[in-house]
Amino acid sequence: MSAETTTTERPTYILARAEVRAVSRVSPNFVRVTFGGDELFEFCTPGEVFDSRIKLVFPPASGILPPLDRETDDWWGSYLAVPEEERGSMRTYSVRDLRVDGADTEVDVDFVLHLAPGLTGPASLWASQAAVGQELFVVGPRRGVTDHGGAEYAPGAAPSVVLVGDETAAPGIARILEDAPRDLRGIAFLEVPSADDVLAIDAPAGVEVRWLPRAVDQLHGLELIPAVLSYLGDVDASEDISVSDVDTEDLLWETPDYSGLGEEIAITDAPADRYFWIAGESGVVTTLRRHLVKDLGIDRRQVAFMGYWRRGVAMRG
Ligand SMILES: Cc1cc2nc3c(=O)[nH]c(=O)nc-3n(C[C@H](O)[C@H](O)[C@H](O)COP(=O)(O)OP(=O)(O)OC[C@H]3O[C@@H](n4cnc5c(N)ncnc54)[C@H](O)[C@@H]3O)c2cc1C
Repeated sequence: MSAETTTTERPTYILARAEVRAVSRVSPNFVRVTFGGDELFEFCTPGEVFDSRIKLVFPPASGILPPLDRETDDWWGSYLAVPEEERGSMRTYSVRDLRVDGADTEVDVDFVLHLAPGLTGPASLWASQAAVGQELFVVGPRRGVTDHGGAEYAPGAAPSVVLVGDETAAPGIARILEDAPRDLRGIAFLEVPSADDVLAIDAPAGVEVRWLPRAVDQLHGLELIPAVLSYLGDVDASEDISVSDVDTEDLLWETPDYSGLGEEIAITDAPADRYFWIAGESGVVTTLRRHLVKDLGIDRRQVAFMGYWRRGVAMRG
């Protein structure tokens, strides 16, 4: 999400104060929180949300939301300007659903509950205790100014897609499939903590949605990696499904037009046959990237590889 301003002089991103309108435990490991409030009236573009990332600012222990300057487009600078003890926590989420109705506009966010001691964080804890009436800040694209702000999904002319994600990417994949043209073809692999976390997605008929529940205490990626590689015909990979082969705290972010690793970006168009979108735990995505690019020779211009979180690492914003 860039913090550029536009000639309209309206900030590109909305930094909205929103209140919890509803909380629903949709499955053992997902809680759906509906946010509303009149400051959301220009938030995102219905039908074209796809995987737009949004930022949520959770209050600190005092429960008092930080005094953010909201007239600037520099939402990150505005957040950092508040003393650390008053700032609360900022985390990244996806829009599971958006219902635009003027001042009654509502946004649903599906939070993964990861609550094991030592493995939880402020966002997951907040979601586990969310109650109607609580407030937080939501940062997201302003309709009519940056309609696709923060979205990475960009299949171009590809008629077919391969979408791959763990539970943190499931809300984004669901939104992509519900916003996609009805003639889209392909497959979506979704690894989730349990069979009871399989949720309804209104996908195009030509897209197979394959859910991969983990066993209790099974590591992330151990279902996803073999399923994807076997589908793509990487038979040699069956023995090599290490899921944590990176020692950096940074999230992998390699898309057709951006390289967090500093790789050269080709300016030519990607092959138009198939588009890949892969997101989830960063070590898992890195392993998949190695197999897709190095073993299978898939052109990196066809793939968005995105680390959404990192085992053992608390996000900073
Ligand atoms: C573009 C984008 C979109 C995202 N969309 C969503 C979404 O719609 N829903 C969603 O739930 N998440 C989503 N995430 C992931 C979410 O931002 C991270 O999971 C984040 O770390 C949660 O913050 P926290 O405060 O709960 O934990 P942190 O304070 O960041 O981390 C604390 C500890 O929890 C661990 N941890 C973090 N997430 C998980 C997890 N899911 N399972 C197990 N352990 C975990 C960390 O490794 C760390 O040890 C998205 C991330 C990105 C980049």
